[in-house]
Amino acid sequence: MAKRVQLLFYHRDADCFFIAQSGCGLGLTCRFGIIAALSPRAIMPAIYGVIWRVWIEGMQTNSTIEQYKEGMGVKPSEVPETSSQAPSQTAQDEQWMRHAMALAARAEGIGEIPVGALLVLDGQVVGEGWNRSISEHDACAHAEVMAIRAAGKQLANYRLLDTTLYVTLEPCCMCAGALIHSRVKRVVYGARDLKTGAAGSVFEILQDPRHNHSVELTGGVLADACSAQLSAFFKRRRAEKKAAKLALQQSNDTLS
Ligand SMILES: [Zn+2]
Repeated sequence: MAKRVQLLFYHRDADCFFIAQSGCGLGLTCRFGIIAALSPRAIMPAIYGVIWRVWIEGMQTNSTIEQYKEGMGVKPSEVPETSSQAPSQTAQDEQWMRHAMALAARAEGIGEIPVGALLVLDGQVVGEGWNRSISEHDACAHAEVMAIRAAGKQLANYRLLDTTLYVTLEPCCMCAGALIHSRVKRVVYGARDLKTGAAGSVFEILQDPRHNHSVELTGGVLADACSAQLSAFFKRRRAEKKAAKLALQQSNDTLS
């Protein structure tokens, strides 16, 4: 059997398809599937319309006009980049971790241990936090909790579904619990906390399968940089304490 050749045109202004089929002349198919004969004056828009597809009848029998129309909505320039060209998950994680480190620096600026955290939803920051326990007289004011509180207000929801939390230091038991309760989808941390870490270093709170919510976990993102930020803070604080102690001793010596 001889194959019939069809040409399908889409005219944006008319919002309809024009079909030219060998042996059958020209026809018009609108979105409701009504086919009507074309007048010569209507043929010109069809010609200037976008040539969508040429196919041999029988090769795509399952395709529908709506499917073709959906396809028409995507211009070549709008086709998403391939995964090899898009930023990798690792690159995105590192980018957000640098943001978390900047927040940690804010904590250090007010005399707090430099830990910063943020929550990201669909590529947007929805909550930021940094350590404020000393300044707020609040043992719960860890960076993660502050970020959770900020995101809750931003989203007007205590469930932070589909969010990713970035934090420069492995969460403690309290923060791990808060992350479970808030239904954070993924946690990415920088430096491990070998004293109180609850994401595997000391405790395994986040990964405990008895929770009714499981959290995806990625650790060690920019770990060296995050660790260096903390180490520099403690080194500086030790030096300041030592200098203060020395100054006090010299003052006492002068008095005696
Ligand atoms: Zn904590």
